[in-house]
Amino acid sequence: MTIERRIICGLDDIKSITIECLCRPYGKPHEPPCGARLTTKPTEDKDIPERCPRCGATWEEKRDRRVETGPSVFSTLIVSIAKILNRGKDENEVKNEPKFRILLEFSEPKTDD
Ligand SMILES: [Zn+2]
Repeated sequence: MTIERRIICGLDDIKSITIECLCRPYGKPHEPPCGARLTTKPTEDKDIPERCPRCGATWEEKRDRRVETGPSVFSTLIVSIAKILNRGKDENEVKNEPKFRILLEFSEPKTDD
């Protein structure tokens, strides 16, 4: 018999959002990736930077505002999480609470014992 243990979390349980650079030096596919990390609070409404702060690899293609391509799905996700968590903090905002809650389920971290 297999016993499955699960952890279920809400968006407000997210402590931070980290972006880690997976870029390897050009022409050196066996080198370890850059590994630079950029961590923000989930309530911070922030786009993913265009470039890695350490190695300069392109993380997000520069968006052409004239064509109005809009943000990438990754930036949209981060900005949307911040908007959901920050809702209701602005007095001028129309109160429009959803009738549902979004939960994130994670596998329980593996332990060696
Ligand atoms: Zn990098």
